[in-house]
Amino acid sequence: MEQLLQQIEAIKAEIAATVANTPEQVEQFRIKYLGTKGLVKEIMGEMKNVPNEQKKEFGQILNAFKMVAEEKMQQLQSALGDSDEQTAKFDFTLPGDPVAVGTRHPLNLVRNQMVSIFKRLGFAVAEGPEVEDDWHNFGAMNLPEDHPARDMQDTFYVQEASENNAAWLLRTHTSSVQARVMETQKPPIRVICPGRVYRNETISARAHCFFHQVEGLYIDENVSFADLKQTLYFFVQEMFGKEVKVRFRPSYFPFTEPSAEMDISCQICSGKGCNICKHTGWVEILGSGMVHPKVLENFGIDPEKYTGFAFGMGVERIAQLKYQVNDLRLYSQNDLRFLEQFKSV
Ligand SMILES: [Zn+2]
Repeated sequence: MEQLLQQIEAIKAEIAATVANTPEQVEQFRIKYLGTKGLVKEIMGEMKNVPNEQKKEFGQILNAFKMVAEEKMQQLQSALGDSDEQTAKFDFTLPGDPVAVGTRHPLNLVRNQMVSIFKRLGFAVAEGPEVEDDWHNFGAMNLPEDHPARDMQDTFYVQEASENNAAWLLRTHTSSVQARVMETQKPPIRVICPGRVYRNETISARAHCFFHQVEGLYIDENVSFADLKQTLYFFVQEMFGKEVKVRFRPSYFPFTEPSAEMDISCQICSGKGCNICKHTGWVEILGSGMVHPKVLENFGIDPEKYTGFAFGMGVERIAQLKYQVNDLRLYSQNDLRFLEQFKSV
């Protein structure tokens, strides 16, 4: 055993004294000490001749020895890497690794397109807070205290109303932004309000607890329902092409009178009938109407002098018809396989 220990010490000294300045010399070192027939392996092989009671102690000595050789090898290699010679060999003209370019989210693509269409008609973009008070979200919009939309079942309340405090909630429509615009601006008003809204819905393919709207508001003297129709005709033709067919259906909203919903010919089946249009050939895309005189009065705008129209639509709905996305959940799952499909759009 004594002899083996001496041998190990001698090899350790040899390793410590080794100088290697070229890759070839480093490789020689590796073969001599750490190769499959190298000295480290040979010495490790002596373990079987060590008596059992000394095996533990010897195992530690052998492991330390192996580490000495491995550490020296690393030192030699990193010293080589730092040398000028190595740097000079690097070919800086080699092409780099490509950087993966992200894609715009389909909802952003559609929203941007919607905004740019209305901008061409002279609409400005208005934005407002997502956490709103009861007045801007409901009261100003002519939704009475007992309106079902105010129900806790449908709305996320941040703070319930108390004696001294108004209720705070996550806005359920971007009409709250219209309210803030009417509060601070005098007619003529011509704005669109793109933004995220929240409803207390169970998440499914057809419903989500948050989604996106673009609403519009136009108030001036002599604004008529014909102006509303013309504006929306222009929008859908720019969005879906000149072939699109349009129809208005009477409807009811507390903040407009008269109110109408607008359908367009189904973009998926071209009006022949499919699941999206429930085999009618028509899909509803927006709600609209003439601004209710009471809403104008709420903001000190004289309804005898001014009239206006408002409309609102879901960005997800427009994107669904444009890209044939049939499950709302896809928009918020961040699945790259879905998102990357909009690269070239
Ligand atoms: Zn259809």
